[in-house]
Amino acid sequence: MVVVRDRERTLGEILATRGDFVGAGTAVDWQEAMRRAIRRGDQLLRRLGLAGSGDGEVGGLTAAERDFPTFVPLEFLGRMRPGDPDDPLLLQVVPRAIETEPQPGFVGDPVGDTAARISPGLLQKYEGRALVIATGVCGVHCRYCFRRQYDYHDTFSESTSANGSHSSPGGTIDEAAMVRRLRQDRSIDEVILSGGDPLTLGDPRLDRLLAAIESVPHVRRLRVHSRMPIVIPQRVTESLIQRLQVSRLATWMVVHCNHAQEIDAAVTTALARMVDAGIPVLNQAVLLAGVNDSAAALESLCRELVDRRVQPYYLHQLDRISGAAHFEVPVSRGLELIEQLRGRLPGYAVPVYVSEVAGAASKLPN
Ligand SMILES: *Cc1c(COP(=O)(O)O)cnc(C)c1O
Ligand code: SF4
Repeated sequence: MVVVRDRERTLGEILATRGDFVGAGTAVDWQEAMRRAIRRGDQLLRRLGLAGSGDGEVGGLTAAERDFPTFVPLEFLGRMRPGDPDDPLLLQVVPRAIETEPQPGFVGDPVGDTAARISPGLLQKYEGRALVIATGVCGVHCRYCFRRQYDYHDTFSESTSANGSHSSPGGTIDEAAMVRRLRQDRSIDEVILSGGDPLTLGDPRLDRLLAAIESVPHVRRLRVHSRMPIVIPQRVTESLIQRLQVSRLATWMVVHCNHAQEIDAAVTTALARMVDAGIPVLNQAVLLAGVNDSAAALESLCRELVDRRVQPYYLHQLDRISGAAHFEVPVSRGLELIEQLRGRLPGYAVPVYVSEVAGAASKLPN
């Protein structure tokens, strides 16, 4: 009976009542949370009581991890259900042997990022918006990520890997080169900080980057694309909020949450801090098989978001990156799901279901 009850609770809840879990979101600062994150798939499974589950995947972990290392903060682990190999959070981050099997149509650069590079660390695909690859480091490694094979080595001069990923060096963009390029193109009025995850940069580095962007007179808006408020919510510090608030740029935050179970009390606090500070917060999610490909899962995600004053922005069709084929949901199914959401949710709570097509002038509605 105890086992059955425990399966309905997350690891964080169980350990918190036992008193042996060091702070999900409270006890350590975000940099310490990065340092103590789990970096091995077998350790991740063991922490959830799944080691030796005999599903035949364990032998394959090493090969998948060689391409893209495991990186899971304890704050995120704490929201998973122990003993459940199908947990929707676990599935997003656990390396699997199937990733190493080539699948036709799944390639290294499906979204044409290489072609969109206008200067080192700066991409422009769409009118008026330039996207800065602020760093290759992330606060979690999502197995479906379209940047898992992005060549960050060309982007950065330094390479002080903070989370041990060869595809995620810790160096950051050369601001002087970025500013020169931004100044040349007066049509760019919005700069998107992306990566990797720009909020894995420390405050001093982030401050310099923002100051550089603010120095370009025709840039009016800053958009921050980050999964940190979800995976390591203590990143949303008062000093971060203050820095964004003093900016002359209109600042929008786009977080990345795929399942309602990712939202716990600490995430709720982080989101509230941003919204209370007058920063509009949007969410983008990726439609992922086994994670959120049901009307119930998507409805619950959207409801939990709007309850927290976060607007569902995009539901992305999976980019066909090699290693991620097992996450793909057919577009026809995605369209059905969106139709069902329309019948259940207020209009503003239904995200736009989009695909990214290399060479297109915008993300395309499906
Ligand atoms: C997704 C993306 C954007 C932003 O697109 P919006 O539709 O404005 O959210 C900008 N630049 C690049 C390179 C992108 O991939
Ligand atoms: S946080 Fe974003 S960029 Fe980083 S691995 Fe996950 S999806 Fe990719």
